[in-house]
Amino acid sequence: MAVEIIVNKNKCVGCGICLEACPKGPKIWKKDKDGKYIAYNTEDCHNCKICAGRCPKNAILVRRL
Ligand code: SF4
Ligand code: SF4
Repeated sequence: MAVEIIVNKNKCVGCGICLEACPKGPKIWKKDKDGKYIAYNTEDCHNCKICAGRCPKNAILVRRL
C-alpha cells in the first residue's frame, strides 16, 4: 500500500509512542538524530492510523497516496 507518513517536527516531543503503538513498530519507526521520530519505511504500513491516533501531540499525518 502506498502511504505517506508526515511527522510535524515542531510538534514531536520524541516520546516514542508512535513506535510502541504501531503493529509494525521498528520496521517503520525510528528515532532520528535530532531525537524526533520518523517513519523511515512506509512500505510495511497498512494505513491503520493507530500511530496518528495515539500521538499525544497530534504530530502525525498518515495518508494513502
Ligand atoms: S508519538 Fe508523536 S510526539 Fe511521540 S515520538 Fe511519535 S510523533 Fe513524536
Ligand atoms: S498507520 Fe498503522 S501501520 Fe502505519 S505507521 Fe501508523 S500505526 Fe504503523
